[in-house]
Amino acid sequence: MTEAFKLSNVTKHYGDIKALEGITLSANEGQILGLLGPNGAGKTTIVKILSTLTKPTSGHAEVYGINVVKDPDSVRRLIGLAGQYAAIDEFQTGYENIYMTGRLYGLSSQETKKRTLELLDQFSLTDAAKRIVNTYSGGMRRRLDLGASLIGHPKILFLDEPTTGLDPKTRLDLWKIIQQLVKDGTTILLTTQYLEEADELANFIAIVNHGKIVAEGTADQLKNRLGNDVVECQLQNIKDKDLAISVIKKIAKYPPEFNDTSLKMTIPVNHGAKDLMKIVELLNSSKILIEELSLHRPSLDDVFLTLTKSNT
Ligand code: ATP
Repeated sequence: MTEAFKLSNVTKHYGDIKALEGITLSANEGQILGLLGPNGAGKTTIVKILSTLTKPTSGHAEVYGINVVKDPDSVRRLIGLAGQYAAIDEFQTGYENIYMTGRLYGLSSQETKKRTLELLDQFSLTDAAKRIVNTYSGGMRRRLDLGASLIGHPKILFLDEPTTGLDPKTRLDLWKIIQQLVKDGTTILLTTQYLEEADELANFIAIVNHGKIVAEGTADQLKNRLGNDVVECQLQNIKDKDLAISVIKKIAKYPPEFNDTSLKMTIPVNHGAKDLMKIVELLNSSKILIEELSLHRPSLDDVFLTLTKSNT
């Protein structure tokens, strides 16, 4: 299998701020690698290094075997970038925006024209092509941005939070487009704060927190890390919170999460129904009253909350 990109022990410091602290990560051709993490985790910095927008402080990064620091021009010919740092000009038309990107990319005017029309069609923007972008909806802008990033047929596409702020329907439309791009052979690095987005799209997920990878694997592998199941237990009284947590710690794999508003405790367990019984017994014997109890397989939300919490 061909390796599309790789980071080895990459650090990035901005003065005293350690944005990245020893990131090692790679993706094979045709994969969607999902980078999941809260605000400020370091996701965009990883994208910026791989797309040659910033240099690592130390470590090594390459795209198709090409060193991003030593030969950024060759790397740029292989990649496309869309998302948070979209270079869309509000006061140009959709057509002009894509055309300009093509010319900047170094394509001839004839080639750029042909490709611009193709992309406008592919992203259902032909009818709006002559309209100035500040009349576009959020979804149209994202499609335009994505279209422009594909002008040079990139082998790797970096999508930095491509669906942030979009409504659910528009988000689903973009997911379909992303899935089609991968079918056509593009490798994608996708950063997201949406767990269901990583679950739906990514073949492999790295969870980033405070500049480090705190977990990686397929969505299933990550869910399995927490044990097979999760018990959700709602208490009747907030006053029982501390006692309940200390009692439950005796059988849980990780400390339980407690939501002060819903009074719900999320408890990762290894042996579903058996552990559920044990939880009831333990809480009963401590005279803690239960409002509601359920057992479910962990979601990426559970994984994310547990792992990012245990690393703060
Ligand atoms: P978000 O989801 O909010 O975009 P992120 O995971 O993409 O977050 P980064 O943008 O990579 O996070 O930022 C990582 C850390 O580095 C943060 O603490 C941020 O404040 C810091 N940082 C990023 N760029 C700079 C910069 N140019 N100068 C100083 N600090 C920076």
